[in-house]
Amino acid sequence: MATPQLLQLLAPLSGVLMPLDQVPDPVFSTRVIGDGLCIDPTSQTLSAPLAGVISNVQASGHAISITDDNGVQVLMHIGLDTVNLAGKGFTRLVEEGQRVEAGQALIEFDADYIALHARSLLTLMLVVSGEPFAWLSPETGMVDGGQPLLSLHCVEQIADEPAPEEGEALFSRTVTLANPNGLHARPAAVFAQAAKGFSASIYLHKQQESANAKSLVAIMALQTAFGDTVQVSAAGQDAEKAIDTLEKLLTSGCGETVSVSAQVEALEPSSSKVLRGVCASPGSAFGQVVQIAEQRLEVSEPGRGAQVEREQLSRALAQADLALQLLRDKATGDAQVEIFKAHQELLEDPSLLDQANVLISEGKSAAFAWRAATEATAALFKGLGSALLAERAADLADVGQRVLKLILGVQDQAIELPEGAILIADQLTPSQTAGLDTRKVLGFATVGGGATSHVAILARAAGLPAICGLPIQVLSLRNGSLVLLDADKGELHLDPELAAIEQLRVDRQRQEQRHQHVLAHATLAACTRDGHHVEVTANIASLGEAEQAMSLGGEGVGLLRSEFLYLDRNHAPSHEEQASTYSAIARALGPTRSLVVRTLDVGGDKPLAYVPMDAETNPFLGMRGIRLCLERPQLLRDQFKAILACAGLAQLHIMLPMVTQLSELRLARQLLEEEAMALGLAELPKLGIMIEVPAAALMADLFAPEVDFFSIGTNDLTQYTLAMDRDHPRLAAQADSFHPSVLRLIASTVKAAHAHGKWVGVCGAMASETLAVPLLLGLGVDELSVSVPLIPAIKAAVREVDLVDCQAIAQQVLGLESAQQVREALRLYHEATVDTSLVLEN
Ligand code: PEP
Ligand code: MG
Repeated sequence: MATPQLLQLLAPLSGVLMPLDQVPDPVFSTRVIGDGLCIDPTSQTLSAPLAGVISNVQASGHAISITDDNGVQVLMHIGLDTVNLAGKGFTRLVEEGQRVEAGQALIEFDADYIALHARSLLTLMLVVSGEPFAWLSPETGMVDGGQPLLSLHCVEQIADEPAPEEGEALFSRTVTLANPNGLHARPAAVFAQAAKGFSASIYLHKQQESANAKSLVAIMALQTAFGDTVQVSAAGQDAEKAIDTLEKLLTSGCGETVSVSAQVEALEPSSSKVLRGVCASPGSAFGQVVQIAEQRLEVSEPGRGAQVEREQLSRALAQADLALQLLRDKATGDAQVEIFKAHQELLEDPSLLDQANVLISEGKSAAFAWRAATEATAALFKGLGSALLAERAADLADVGQRVLKLILGVQDQAIELPEGAILIADQLTPSQTAGLDTRKVLGFATVGGGATSHVAILARAAGLPAICGLPIQVLSLRNGSLVLLDADKGELHLDPELAAIEQLRVDRQRQEQRHQHVLAHATLAACTRDGHHVEVTANIASLGEAEQAMSLGGEGVGLLRSEFLYLDRNHAPSHEEQASTYSAIARALGPTRSLVVRTLDVGGDKPLAYVPMDAETNPFLGMRGIRLCLERPQLLRDQFKAILACAGLAQLHIMLPMVTQLSELRLARQLLEEEAMALGLAELPKLGIMIEVPAAALMADLFAPEVDFFSIGTNDLTQYTLAMDRDHPRLAAQADSFHPSVLRLIASTVKAAHAHGKWVGVCGAMASETLAVPLLLGLGVDELSVSVPLIPAIKAAVREVDLVDCQAIAQQVLGLESAQQVREALRLYHEATVDTSLVLEN
């Protein structure tokens, strides 16, 4: 039953009435949102035309809706295109959900500011719930705020609304909104209008929230923004058609023009046909899904006596050690060897064993005790907020499971892989990957992990593409379904189209040709076409890599990450061990090539077991690098002494990480001089610093006179300049070293160094990107220290450009707004020059 009632709507502000048809915006003039009126305001406070509840007030304050007790909904929208002001010029006086009286002030606005900065001040009052109304005053001319303007018949809502259509709900694919301001009034109206054309009950979902898709106000209340992912669900007769239409409408921008680049900027693909993560190992592959899941084993809690259980644990630990040793022996590269070595060390970890033994003494079974000990420690690691310790937690889980299976006598089921497998897992453990037939595996895609995870390391070592950080949805993909893994873009395409697969094949073929070409020319010098030489050196962390770098045409070592000697062990490396490692590397280079040894860069996120450190809330902003070493000067002295042992075997350079203050450089130099003097060395090695903290880049003119060289660590410089964690999976696409702010710091650093006759290298990952080569050369960088396998490609990229062009493109991109724009400009430059030159060279 319904009772008709009469309701008066008051003028929300003073001004001049204008017919809706004349509003220069079709979304209002065509009444898609609803019928109502328009006022050109002369006052600056918007007040409530009726009593009710604020059903939506946009965060930007330019639009507000009130719903009264009978369900009448009135929307007020101040100005045209005012959503773009992002709240500037508006002060909200009420909150969503608040009850207001007719005439109560809702929003104050600065008419001058809005008139100057938006398209128009014209303000709309629209009855979006659709009740017909009659005018209580002339339809044009002056009105005063609070004056009764419209009268409408409303029907009291009694619970006899038509029941929503029943049936199983269908879901659309997820759509990433490319509308610059999300679904604000205009696109929301278009969407709601389209939804109303279907009898199905339809909802729009944003994360946990849902809105009735036929209600403009409900959609606006979702407060969607650019880049949000939304989904449509529908239940009822025409649900399928509704989903199809509305998904397309959302993708096309709901009447707003959305550019392709805006869709890219939204950081998410435009539908769930593409899942996005971060590139953990480059390359691409087309193959079939194989889901890999780790089983949860059942264990009984009570033991059969401490003696029996203890023996069982020891037996399992010994068997696990043996199995890991076998894996080490069979390992295909250093990376795998290191990982399994670390696992063996965990088997001997006294704290883990103590925890397990205590539980066994309390009457628990070996399986229960071991699992409890490993899980508790893993949880502790995970909770410390460090990517590196989170990796250790994954190791612990892997070792934990290995031992548990041995205690319980559970045999590993050999995974039968089909040809062309793309392995999908929550987390792929080293043990799982080690047992796989890699001839059948084309790539990896995981939910967990990051660019530094073990799956990333192993995939890179095996030359297979991998993506980490995918949405959990990936775990429900059917085994055998076809996917295209484009690791370079961090994308997993579901049901890819033939054209995409063909494109991938062509791209791979071209890449392979280019790879062979650059490899054949790896020993040529890295000289630009106009004769400017740039040193291309290697980033290494082992003797093996030093040797490989030399064979691939490396002209020296621009960054020896000395941490590898210190991490994953229970005691500091001895002087002999350090000195012999540095000397072996120096010998591999020979007396004419440069060797830049970076002093220990640990602390915070990379703790050392034998150096007690406090847990830190923000490890990247804590006791890292040179800060830690100067707090423990003996550690630094010992390292200097060991590095100095290889003086003369190569052109020795020492480099300090994370330098922020001049005093750090001066103190370190003093320690180095003292150690050199004690060794009776007549000449000091070159001493330089990494430029990876914005403070050092900004004060490069003060550092330059006191150093022999700079090397720019773009990985950290980007993280600290953009305030984005370098390992954050969701910021991976934005934490881009091509951001103009980072480029400006590089430019000013180079300028300061050259003014004092000092050279500048770049050793962050940016130097290993061929796209960055013309840019870094153009900014005046003298040395590029790159990841070993990429040496030939980077040298080739140098040979394909002219320095004068590079200088021009570098100047141009310094003035751009975003990393994307920079990359696009460089891509265009690359297309215009490089491809042709490759053809010519061939
Ligand atoms: C850097 O920060 O760019 C760098 C080379 O150092 P690391 O990646 O080892 O922190
Ligand atoms: Mg760094």
